[in-house]
Order: sequence, then C-alpha cells, then structure tokens
Amino acid sequence: IITTHDVTKVYQLGAEQVHALRGISLDVRRGEYLSILGPSGSGKSTFFNMVGGLDRPSAGSVSVDGCNLQELNQKQLAWIRCHKMGYIFQSFNLIQTMTAVENVALPRIFAGESPAKARAAAAEILDLVGLGHRLTHLPAQVSGGQQQRIAIARALVNRPGIVLADEPTGNLDLHTGEEIIQLLADMKKQLGITVITATHDMKMLSASDTVVWIKDGRADRIARKGEFEVAIGTIDGKTLA
Ligand code: ATP
Ligand code: MG
Repeated sequence: IITTHDVTKVYQLGAEQVHALRGISLDVRRGEYLSILGPSGSGKSTFFNMVGGLDRPSAGSVSVDGCNLQELNQKQLAWIRCHKMGYIFQSFNLIQTMTAVENVALPRIFAGESPAKARAAAAEILDLVGLGHRLTHLPAQVSGGQQQRIAIARALVNRPGIVLADEPTGNLDLHTGEEIIQLLADMKKQLGITVITATHDMKMLSASDTVVWIKDGRADRIARKGEFEVAIGTIDGKTLA
C-alpha cells in the first residue's frame, strides 16, 4: 500500500546541511502494523512526514496506493492526506476550545460534510474508541490517555486506509501507553487499516508485524514478526537498550 524508494532528506539550516534521511526503501503491505524504531535524531519523524505527505523528500519517492506523491499537485496531495491517511501525534494536537466530538468531526467538515452529519460520524467513532461518554468534554477535561483516544478517533473519522502515529505513547504513562497500543492493534484488526508508528516504546513491538530500525537516516535492519522476541528483551539476537 506504501512504497518508499531511496527517500532522502537534507534540511538546509543556513549554511549547514542536516542529512536526516540517507536513502530509505521500504514496502508496507496493506493491513500491516509497522513500527519504526531508532534513537532520538535518527530520522523517524522526518520519515513519518515524508510517508504522510506532510513534507517532501529531497530525493527519492513515496507512493501511496500506487500514486507517486511527488507527482501530485497541492490539491491532489491535500485530498490524499484527508481521505487516505490519518495522523496521530505525541502531543495529541487537539483544539483546546473544541469538545471531543467537535475535534473529531473536523476532518469530515474539511472534507465537505455538513456539521450535523460530521458530528454523528464523530460520535460513532468516539464510541468505538471507548469515549462514547465523553463527547462534550473539552480536551482539558479528560485524561491524557483519553485525549489520545480522541486524537485516534479524529485520525480514523474519514475512514482512511492508513494511520500514521508519531510517538503516540510518548506523553503517556506505561499503563495508558499499553492501552493506546492495544487500541491501535484493535482498530487495525476491526477496520483493516495499515498502521505505521514511529516509537521509542518497546511495548509497541508486541503489536507490530514488522519493525524497522532507523539509524543515522538509514534503515539499519528490518524484522518481521517471529524474528523478534519482545519478552526476553532481545530482537533478532540483539539486546534492546
Ligand atoms: P526523536 O526520537 O527525538 O523524535 P527522530 O528520530 O524523530 O527523533 P527527526 O526529528 O526525524 O528525528 O530528526 C532527524 C534529524 O534531522 C535530526 O538531526 C534533527 O535535528 C534534524 N531535523 C529535523 N527537523 C529539522 C528541520 N525542520 N530543520 C533542520 N533539521 C531538522
Ligand atoms: Mg521524532
């Protein structure tokens, strides 16, 4: 469903060049749960932004459903971002002055739906993520884990085929983080979505079909389920930090 070919990103900061990605080629299959692991600064978020069409690579290409993102104009790219992808961030990125149901309805309103219909769809998906009883709460009136559930509902409300999550458990305690991982795994199963997460969280591995390690902007190693063992703290023979 997603293919990246030799994706490279160089940030130009004044006179300095930062080589954030040095050529990443990956195939993500439909329905796969893929986790991107790697130390801070290794390029996870940069890769996430390229795959999500939120930023453009310096070289290489990203295809979604056979569509090369580099060949699209802004309007086509916006359509793909709205209908084919859902995004989840570490800091939830909810609008603080809007209720849960209003936050979740937004992508549908952007897609041109009437507010009443959008709210109904939002309420339905909030129910699916276990927040049917918090529809009219503001983000500040619910817990961190619940805020992330609202963000997940918002990412799912347009029924995208792909959900991208950048450190979705980064701001949560261990237990709440596990609940969020479980929710993503459930959504993958129930809705058949493809999930890509960038993470430091080793717990995420248990839900993953594939794990890609990024190191210095390169895909250092790729392991499929069965090739990594979470319980004993090693993966592919390598002890986890
Ligand atoms: P973390 O785990 O801390 O979130 P990461 O793996 O997500 O790290 P990135 O945010 O992708 O890392 O950053 C990769 C490299 O690119 C880093 O050296 C970072 O300083 C640099 N970088 C990221 N964004 C920019 C930018 N907008 N301009 C310049 N350099 C950037
Ligand atoms: Mg990051």
